[in-house]
Formats: sequence, structure tokens, C-alpha cells
Amino acid sequence: MNRDTSRDLYDRALGVLPGGVNSSVRAAPQPYPTFVRKGDAGRVVDADGNKYVDWVMGLGPLLLGHDVPESVQSAVQRRASEGPMYGMPTEVEIEHAEFIARHVPSVEMVRFVNSGTEATVSAVRLARGYTGRDKVVVMEGGYHGAQESTLVEGDAEGTSPSSPGIPPSFAEHTLTVPFNDEAAVTELFEAHGDDIAAVLVEPILANKGIVEPREGYHETLRDLTDDHGALLVFDEVITGFRVGGLSCAQGKYGITPDLTTFGKVIGGGFPVGAIGGRTEVMEEFTPAGDVFQAGTFSGHPVTMAAGLETLTYAAENDVYEHVNDLGERLRDGLRDVVSERAPEYSVVGTDSLFKVVFTRDGEAPRNGSDVGRANVQRWNRVFRPQMLDRGIMLSQNQFESQFVSYAHTAADVEETVEAYRDAL
Ligand SMILES: *Cc1c(COP(=O)(O)O)cnc(C)c1O
Repeated sequence: MNRDTSRDLYDRALGVLPGGVNSSVRAAPQPYPTFVRKGDAGRVVDADGNKYVDWVMGLGPLLLGHDVPESVQSAVQRRASEGPMYGMPTEVEIEHAEFIARHVPSVEMVRFVNSGTEATVSAVRLARGYTGRDKVVVMEGGYHGAQESTLVEGDAEGTSPSSPGIPPSFAEHTLTVPFNDEAAVTELFEAHGDDIAAVLVEPILANKGIVEPREGYHETLRDLTDDHGALLVFDEVITGFRVGGLSCAQGKYGITPDLTTFGKVIGGGFPVGAIGGRTEVMEEFTPAGDVFQAGTFSGHPVTMAAGLETLTYAAENDVYEHVNDLGERLRDGLRDVVSERAPEYSVVGTDSLFKVVFTRDGEAPRNGSDVGRANVQRWNRVFRPQMLDRGIMLSQNQFESQFVSYAHTAADVEETVEAYRDAL
């Protein structure tokens, strides 16, 4: 397979883009990233004209795949040709917020922003403003975007920034616990409960995983936050409108968080984020309340139209049945392959998320550290390049989730499982 054009484009990109990319993970593939020419249903075509079954799916937003339905295309084109934006409100923002509030029981009001990162930044500020407290709790290995409050590493002993450029004093306000460890978070609340504004948690660790919650874990978080007057914030940027269908992961697990952050799927492929919650908390945002929040592009009409039409399409068609069914077939097929070829590895995922984690003992990971101990080198340097040669585009590093879209087919699943069989 000839990938010379990708190599040459990467070489050129290194001259003007730091690391050759605009988001770190894109440079993870060895020895250089695949540059994309275009999408085609469940596949991508690279700059050299090679075609791959695409399980990256934009890192999660592309629930419907690359060929969006006519209703989405025409809404996007109409909005783009009539604007593209105004800095003044439009009706489509209300319609999109109404859709989310109708389907996600914990959400009465929505504030749209432009990325998942912006959503978690604003949710943390809102939680701090609402409670009058500074500390937030996050999970080790959880990901909430490129923001100062959550780019931390540490344990019960303390946290420090996980990137230069973040003052250590910022990280002092962020506490970390291992996911799925009820004793650790209970202890943390015993020590700091009165200072904690919020627990911020991905309902499923999907950026370092995939790790599902153990039975009762989210109930424990709900009880602890209730008992101590803190907010429970579900970061559903990946899981929102993907896991649990239209009711999201919170619907699947039967948990009512105080705030939810959204992104990815709700923009229909355009830049988006949102914070949702009950009126009493949400109205703390300016201009209703005092917690400042603003954005030139927030509620962008093209994004709103793309997101709303995408979700409407999903509500009116068999989208979730299709993607969840293929997800299950993939995981079943991969379990067979793994038990035959690499019983020390773990097949993980739910709904339309799937992944083979290169664990060393066949134990499904329970938290981010377990995932971190996987055989990353083999995955990066040996396995992923072989899959690429077989025409299968997997996630760009060992830790990110892979996504099934409505455009994928049973044939894509079979081809992928066979490629895993060969490459493992
Ligand atoms: C992707 C992601 C983010 C960040 O969203 P961006 O749009 O990349 O800023 C935050 N939280 C979770 C759980 C995510 O998966």
C-alpha cells in the first residue's frame, strides 16, 4: 500500500503546524499520520487514494457516518448560504435545546458552546459559582478536554498539573480518585466533603479505556454528592446520544446528574459543546445569573441545524439499533479471536463503542491505571500498522475508543474481525 502522499504532507505540515497536527492524538500513529482526502459512508479515502474501514469516525461525532442524510445536508447548506452566523439569537438554538431537554430527563436548560473542552470549563465554573466551593473531583485517567482544572495527575496524596504551563496552585483545587473505587471516593468526601463543588466523571471512561462502571459506582457518587451538597457532573461528551440512545448514558444507568456536558454527536460533525441541567443551577449562568459565560460562535446556526437534523434522523430511524447491533457483533467476533490468539487481551465496550485493550493478564480493566499498563508499544508499532495495511483504520492510540456508525455494514464488521485475526 502506497502512503507516500501522507508522508510528504506530514513532512510539509511539520514546517508550519507544531508536531504537524492541530490536535495531539492525530500524530500518534507510527511512523506518520494518514492524511484524509474524503469520507465515504463507513470508510475514509486517504491522500494517496487508499480506502479504509473507518472506526475513528471523527473521534466520535459521526454517528451517521460520512454520508449524511439529505435532511442534514440540505439544512447545513441552507444555513451556510443564509449566514453563516449573526451574533444574534436564532430559532434553531431553541429547537435543539428543546430536543435535548425532551430526551435527557436531567436536562431542563441548555447552554451551547463550541467544544467539549469549553463545555467542561463552563460546567466547572458553574459548579464552583453555584456551590461557592473551589474543589473538583476527577477520575484518574478521565478526560475532560484541554482545560486547566482537569489536566492533572495524582492520587489521594495530592495532584499536580499534567502539562507545563498550568500553575501548580490550580491543580491544588482538583482531587483525583481511581474510577470504580467506592472506598477511595468515600474517604475523599470524608476528608474534603465541605470544600467539594463537584465530581466530574465520564459515565464510561472512553478516552482511556473503555472502562464501564461497576454496579453501584455511580449510585455511590450520586449519594456522596447529595449528602455533601456537591454537584454530580456527568461528562457525556462521548457517551451523549451514543450510549443509551437518546437518553444518553445517564438513561442507561438510571442516574440523574445535576449537570451534563455534551459535545461530539450533538453537532452533527461541526464544532460543538453544551452544558445541560436543571433550571435552578443553569440560571446561575449570565445573563440570568452571575457566573460569566459567553462565546462569539456559541449556538452557531450551521452547527445547530446539523446537530438537530442528525438527532432527529436518529430518533426517526433505526440508527441506535443498527450501531448497537453491529457493536455487539464486533465485540462477539473479537472475543472469539482474542480467546484464540491472545487470551491475555481484553475486549471492551458497549453500545457502539468497542476496543481490544492489550492487557497482560486477560483481566478487563477497572480503571485508567489498568488501561495504562497495557502493551502500548505492541499496539502502536506492530499491530496498528498491520491493521492499516489490511485496510482497517483503528483509533490513533491504544487508549481512545472506536466508534460504529450508521453507515457501517455487517461486511465491514466481518472484514475487521478477520483483520484482527490475522494481525493478532
Ligand atoms: C472529546 C472529549 C472532551 C473534549 O471535547 P473537545 O470537543 O475535543 O474539546 C471532553 N470530555 C470528553 C469525555 C471527551 O470525550
